[in-house]
Amino acid sequence: GAFLTTIEAANPTLNAYVEVTADRALEMARASDARLARGEAGALEGAPLGIKDLFCTDGVQTTAGSNMLKGFVPPYESTVTANLWRDGAVMLGKLNMDEFAMGSSNETSAFGPVKNPWKSKTSNADLTPGGSSGGSASAVAADLCLAATASDTGGSIRQPAAFTGTVGIKPTYGRASRYGMVAFASSLDQAGPITKTVEDAAILLRSMCSFDPKDSTSLDVETPDWTASLGQGVKGLKIGVPREYVVDGMPAEIQALWDKGVEWLKAAGAEIVEISLPHTKYALPTYYIVAPAEASSNLARYDGMRFGHRADKAASLTDLYETTRAEGFGKEVQRRLTIGAYVLSAGFYDAYYVRALKVRRRIAEDFDKVWGQVDAILTPSTPSAAFAIGDKQIDPVTMYLNDVFTVTANLAGLPGVSVPAGLDSRGLPLGLQVIGKALDEATVFRVAEALE
Ligand code: GLN
Repeated sequence: GAFLTTIEAANPTLNAYVEVTADRALEMARASDARLARGEAGALEGAPLGIKDLFCTDGVQTTAGSNMLKGFVPPYESTVTANLWRDGAVMLGKLNMDEFAMGSSNETSAFGPVKNPWKSKTSNADLTPGGSSGGSASAVAADLCLAATASDTGGSIRQPAAFTGTVGIKPTYGRASRYGMVAFASSLDQAGPITKTVEDAAILLRSMCSFDPKDSTSLDVETPDWTASLGQGVKGLKIGVPREYVVDGMPAEIQALWDKGVEWLKAAGAEIVEISLPHTKYALPTYYIVAPAEASSNLARYDGMRFGHRADKAASLTDLYETTRAEGFGKEVQRRLTIGAYVLSAGFYDAYYVRALKVRRRIAEDFDKVWGQVDAILTPSTPSAAFAIGDKQIDPVTMYLNDVFTVTANLAGLPGVSVPAGLDSRGLPLGLQVIGKALDEATVFRVAEALE
């Protein structure tokens, strides 16, 4: 009830929710109260959550931020959200996002940009909450939900968490089922939570993850109780600081934040080890080949026939496909699909796509080699704090540079968290990232807690 009132007051300004499911929320809350009264409380009993609008929710419109899917009401539930409801959580509504999760600022959404509740001390401009899970991050930061679901293909959980002073974790690839999540790049996409605290993230992630035969890349592994690893401290852990993450033009404030993180962990008894991940500089170009290539294949299904938007007038079948897609997809999605089709085309496949897959392997091997020396890796989450709405829209490459620290974990399938680690000189939140070994979220949570 209290959350619904806050949403009503603040959402017209923030634009974090694209739909508030008030009736369903009240119904779920009543059912939750009844379970509590019977002593049958689940792990998330009564927790009011916002759901990123790329998780299919049975009977509730799911758009992935796109005109293409406006009016699409799935007749089934995603596995991740079904797991949350199984544990007693309550759905407040669907959260705004970059169209098909392509973006770093929430400006590509067909529902308009989301505002960051944080303001700079030196300017009155409205700031982006980051993207693509900008609605999730803004809603959590502004208390429009207790926590939110999000998804991360190249940083879309961690970057918005960093921009809004919240915690965001992307688990090991395969831990969370992709069934019922609108696909962007299937070999990179992973669901995870955005929360206020590391403990909440540990609790929520456990509910979200499960082995799911309906997702062919789902891992048949136990989902541990990660709250058990909290409170253990980092004494004796070896934390790697990769020298290649010192990127050209990195602001002094980001370097200072990173140094501070190193000092905190040292003071808590961790050993800091300088490491090398030599293929880091190829990560961003590799990501921006692999992700669009997979997107061009995944988004081929939006043909005006099966779901969502269909053009009104068309002279032929080909014209119907073309007009539907020209009307339904925004500029950034069209740019990605063009790049994807190009790198997969007969003449360029070997030079771009196959090459990118080889480099992706090298990037993963860089990590494999350092795991003998360190237990986790510390980096900044983003190369800057939140920027103003409209600031980077002119130039897509400038926008893509936001993802320089986050895409490596997706390419290698590793877990990564962003934790709030302080404010910059304008009073805006900055995040530190912890990357861990595959399936070792436990250590990631421990280090995150020490930084919190
Ligand atoms: N910003 C990156 C992109 O635009 C990552 C998006 C994501 O993780 N979904 O592709």
